[in-house]
Order: sequence, then structure tokens, then C-alpha cells
Amino acid sequence: MEPLATGSARGGKASILVSACLLGTPCRYDGKSQPCQTVIELARECELVPVCPEQLGGLPTPRTPSEVQPDGRVLDAAGNDNTRAFQTGARKALEIAREHGCDRAILKENSPSCGVHRIYDGSFSGTLAPGMGKTAALLSQSGIALASESEFL
Ligand code: SF4
Repeated sequence: MEPLATGSARGGKASILVSACLLGTPCRYDGKSQPCQTVIELARECELVPVCPEQLGGLPTPRTPSEVQPDGRVLDAAGNDNTRAFQTGARKALEIAREHGCDRAILKENSPSCGVHRIYDGSFSGTLAPGMGKTAALLSQSGIALASESEFL
């Protein structure tokens, strides 16, 4: 990711899309947040635009955790097919990024929506594998530069 102060800017402040759970929103599958203080402090120099793609896709909080399957579908641990909700959430997150002029995003690693470098492998065994969540993939394909919170720790 380029230096934050030199990104695309509105009114002199770069706008960055951020996974809402990293900013303290209790939107995770377990009803908790995962605040990252270093990311939160970026608000001093940037406009941080929070999104939770899984909520945007219409899923409840708390919810049964989902994982991306090898065939690209997204199933929850009970076997429900949430692929459509994940795709909807990704599209809505991209729309919000465009509305706010975000050309970069900081997303929560390991999530089936937001994971940038790694996601769980679909077996619900706690095994991580290289890959991107559904929203991260769509944002990346759309030209938005991605980083995960792990790069700010
Ligand atoms: S979908 Fe993204 S923003 Fe929402 S809880 Fe999961 S990691 Fe956080």
C-alpha cells in the first residue's frame, strides 16, 4: 500500500474502505468486534469508511460462520448456501467504496468476505489456506488496492 497521505483524496483526506469489525463494530459472526488500534488511529489523517459485507448481504449478527468452498460457493457450518449473500455484500461494499472515492481498503484477514491473503479452507477445521474472501476479490478485481490489518500491527 502506498503512503496513506498521498492517496486519492477528497478535501485533502484520502478515503479508505475498512472492515467495520476492525473499527470496533460488533459485526462478526460471533457478535463481537476485532478492533485494531493502529487502523483506528488512521482516522487522524484519512476518512475511514466502515463496511461489513456480510451484514450488507443481509446476514444476521450473530450468525453461523461460513467458509469459502473449493468450488467457490460459500457454505455455513450448518450446510446452508450463503453464496448469494456474500456476493451481494461484496457488490454493496464496492458501491460504497466508489461513492466515497476509496481507491484502497484495509480488510480483516482470514474472513470469507474480507480476507486479503488467507482464508479458511472450507473444511471448518480451523485450517487457513492462501486465498481471498469474496469482497476482497471483487475490490481487487475493481482496481482497489488492498491491505490487511496484519500489515498495520
Ligand atoms: S464480513 Fe468483514 S467486516 Fe464483517 S465481520 Fe467479517 S471480517 Fe468483519
